[in-house]
This record gives sequence, structure tokens and C-alpha cells, in this order.
Amino acid sequence: MPRTRPLDWIGCHVSTGGGLHTAPARADAMGAAVMQIFTANQRTWRAPPLTAEGVAQYRQALAASSVRLVMSHDSYLINLASPKPDVAEKSLAAFVEEYRRCTLLGIPLLNFHPGAHLGAGEEAAIELVAAGMRTALADQPESATRLVVELTAGQGSNIGCTLEQVAAILDDAAAPDRSGVCVDTAHVYAAGYDIKSEAGYRKFFADFERAIGLDKLVAFHLNDSRSALGSHVDRHEFIGEGALGRGFFRRLVRDRRFADVPMFLETPDEERYAEEIKLLRRLRRAPWDRLMTARAAPRALTSRPPSPRR
Ligand SMILES: [Zn+2]
Ligand SMILES: [Zn+2]
Repeated sequence: MPRTRPLDWIGCHVSTGGGLHTAPARADAMGAAVMQIFTANQRTWRAPPLTAEGVAQYRQALAASSVRLVMSHDSYLINLASPKPDVAEKSLAAFVEEYRRCTLLGIPLLNFHPGAHLGAGEEAAIELVAAGMRTALADQPESATRLVVELTAGQGSNIGCTLEQVAAILDDAAAPDRSGVCVDTAHVYAAGYDIKSEAGYRKFFADFERAIGLDKLVAFHLNDSRSALGSHVDRHEFIGEGALGRGFFRRLVRDRRFADVPMFLETPDEERYAEEIKLLRRLRRAPWDRLMTARAAPRALTSRPPSPRR
């Protein structure tokens, strides 16, 4: 029996060891309201096809759990931006296959890294990625699954580390209702966006709104960063123990604009996810929230927090 459903959208990446149908119970055990999974082994090119029985088993397990939303993360091998024809071809086939799997499983979000241009340049890469998205979407015209471009740290020749590049990919993909963006907090910091300071935080989301539109922000990867601002090095750290710190995560989880945006932990050790989810929920709960729920406050009071003296 499902327990009381959590009211937020905080969760984590969840292992599918033992089969896809094992993930929802694992998410429940960690207190995750949302889960990110790999629908197949992320380090092989060809995944065994899903069976009708496997799909049914997964759907049943999900319905019996408290998980509110699932996001898939595509294989690390896929590089839609590759200028090498053989890699590009294999990547596109695997990407389309992943989109079919998500469609079949009823997974609403498919998160992917745009890829690396390997010297061929940004512009060619943007075109390739957008073309790949269009191919997948056209393959499953009735699919309700959104393609979610993840902002990257810009390591090596990886594209997708600036808001402008991601905006260009989405424009070119030309599927506003079937695409979106995932902000990985560690990546954007390493990419050079100073989201740690309050002013930098405000500026980043204002720039996001201008370049892409906040309505396109459909997911967060919550990771502290082990690497420095602008280092372009992708190293995740435990929440509050990296360069971003607790203050940043408090600001983010309390930001009402993102109250219904799913947030997935991808910190270094899944053994600590349960504890980190609790920490994020503590940070999210402002002291006045508790006062308000305790004695259903008159409407006039709810617009601002009561003064601490009262
Ligand atoms: Zn990520
Ligand atoms: Zn990362």
C-alpha cells in the first residue's frame, strides 16, 4: 500500500539493479518523491528489448509506490553531436531507442546531455543535436515524453554549458511542448554561472527566463560542486559540502517558482540519499510554514511571514 504521498518533488537517482520494477520500492525506502533511472545499462550500446511483461511489472510497482514522477537519464555513450559518422549513427539509433522505451514505460521526462563536438565546432553540434531530437520525436509522434536537455559543465568540447547554446538547440528542435531543460546545479556553477551568491542566483534565473523561459525548466539535478566556479570540471559533491554550500540549496528549495519542479539528487553516494532528502526537506521548511499550518492563519497573514516577536 502506498504511504502518504510526499507533498514536494524532491528525490534522487535510483538504481534499477534487479530490474526496472525494483526501483519504485527502492525510491520509497529513501523517501524520494521523484526518481531518476536508467531504463537500460547506461554503458552498453544495445539494450535487450523491453517485454510486455517487464513493462507491466514496472508500471504495477510504480503505481503501488509513492513515487510521483519518473525521469530517465540516457546512456553516457550517446553523443548526438559527434562529427564521426559511425558514432553519430549509433548515437542516434540508441537515442531513438531510449525515447521508444520511455514512451512504452510512460516516463514523462527523458534527460540527456547534448554531447561533445570534438573540434567540429559549436554550431554544427547544435544542428546535430536538434536534428537528433526531431528524429526521435517524429519516430513517436504520439509520445507524451519530453526531451530534456541537461545544462553541462562544458568539460572538453561538451556543448550545452551556456544558456544561449541550450536556447539554440531548443529553437532548432522546434518542439516547444515536447522539450525542456534540466539545470544541474553543480554543472552550471562549474560552467561559470555564480549561482552561489544571492545576486548571482537572481541573475542566472533572470537570464534563463530571457534566453529560454522558466516554463521550460522542467527538472533540477541537485548536486553540490567539488570543483570551482568556471572550472568546467564536472565533479559532484554532497549537499552542503562543496563550493555551493547549504545556503544555496536553502534558497533553491524555498524558491516558490520551482515548488513543483522535480529535483533529483546525483551526489556521490546513494547510501546517503535518504539523509540528504531529509536535509533538503528541513531546509525547505521555513520556520513560518510550521506556524501557518499549526493554526490555519487568517488569509491576510499568509502573504508575509509573521514577525518573530509575535
Ligand atoms: Zn546531472
Ligand atoms: Zn555531472
